[in-house]
Amino acid sequence: MDGQAAISEADERALLDSIDRWLERKVAPVAARYEQADEYPHELVQDLCEMGLYGALIEPEYGGLGLSGTTYSRIVARISEEWMSLTGFFNSHLMMATIVQKFGTQKQKEHWLPRFATGELRGGLGLTEPGAGTDLQGIRTVARRDGDRYVVNGSKLWITNVVEGDVLALLVKTDPDAQPRHRGMTMLITPTRDPQTRADLPGIERGRKLPKLGYRGIDTGEIGFADYACDAELSLVGGEEGKGFVMATGGLEIGRVNVAARGVGIARRALKEAVAYAQVRTTMGKPIAEHQAIQLKLGEMAAKTRAAELLVEDAARAYDAGGRIDMEAGMAKWFATETAFEVATEAMRIFGANGYSKEYPIERLYRDAPLLMIGEGTNEMQRIIIARRLLARNPV
Ligand SMILES: Cc1cc2nc3c(=O)[nH]c(=O)nc-3n(C[C@H](O)[C@H](O)[C@H](O)COP(=O)(O)OP(=O)(O)OC[C@H]3O[C@@H](n4cnc5c(N)ncnc54)[C@H](O)[C@@H]3O)c2cc1C
Repeated sequence: MDGQAAISEADERALLDSIDRWLERKVAPVAARYEQADEYPHELVQDLCEMGLYGALIEPEYGGLGLSGTTYSRIVARISEEWMSLTGFFNSHLMMATIVQKFGTQKQKEHWLPRFATGELRGGLGLTEPGAGTDLQGIRTVARRDGDRYVVNGSKLWITNVVEGDVLALLVKTDPDAQPRHRGMTMLITPTRDPQTRADLPGIERGRKLPKLGYRGIDTGEIGFADYACDAELSLVGGEEGKGFVMATGGLEIGRVNVAARGVGIARRALKEAVAYAQVRTTMGKPIAEHQAIQLKLGEMAAKTRAAELLVEDAARAYDAGGRIDMEAGMAKWFATETAFEVATEAMRIFGANGYSKEYPIERLYRDAPLLMIGEGTNEMQRIIIARRLLARNPV
């Protein structure tokens, strides 16, 4: 996965152009309706499959597009300008696929990746539980080996793609008493539906879609496992117990780059809307863009948005070069997502009452931005990670 080859500039441009056309024709007219109804946009998800985005980071030998992190983050930023939730469908899915691609056995890659690449099987990443988010080592879902199967008991909460999805990369404890705790943690790929009937498999207790402030339309929910059994050879990622924590955290820096790219998309759109609005809204006989108070806002919004874009490009390039990028990804994630929230808030002020109206796009950007400060490692943790790497790289 790391160090994936870039496509040519012309191919990247053609891909981004076709995504732009889709956003304009198919997404822009319906996004607000789906978002306000918090309805799963089946037709748009189908389009994402047809455009190959469920396989964006999956290698071509398994049917994916094999895109670089740089191209991928540009796609995510563009789509987030129109409607951020759409990036969650394929990104959470690709985090699951990345775990198989990076750590799976050959048999697991051949079994899962072609189905993930087409979107025939769609899913996400099952880490968080009612009692454990940041402190992942505190999870309580357990899996017990029983011959050629694993039997799983426990529950997960705040899992994206879990209500409509078919499969999860599930973090479990195979040795709950292990010390240090991460040595007892294991990653399983767990199908949750019968492939023919799509009925829940025995032992699956599919919970509700959670009502959310933003990031609506997409299904973030809960799921329970009650003596649920899965095939060990296909499910135990890499054929090894005790490696789940590393797979869940260290291996998924591209997830942070993606969240940072969503922040860029939100900031860009809020800035674009504010620049246009400030030139047509007049007070005291002139456009508000001519008031210095508004210019101070626009100047800061533009500089921060550009800085966020550059940090995301930097992190994506570091990802493509291979190796550990927790510092670069952490910087991009923290700065771009804080910027998204600040720029959306400033845009709301520039829009005045219209910023508060559901008939303009600003209130959605304002509601979508805060998730980015929580997901894929909170922004508190990002700064701690940056500091730890900084200290490790610069010992006295
Ligand atoms: C819309 C949405 C979608 C999500 N999708 C998924 C998904 O698909 N899969 C999944 O597994 N999870 C998902 N999550 C869960 C998300 O990853 C967690 O919410 C996140 O990891 C934070 O965990 P928590 O909510 O339990 O907060 P907590 O861990 O309880 O943290 C609470 C606060 O304490 C701070 N804090 C905690 N520990 C420390 C520390 N050591 N030092 C300093 N500060 C600390 C945090 O930064 C935060 O401010 C989703 C969440 C949301 C809101």
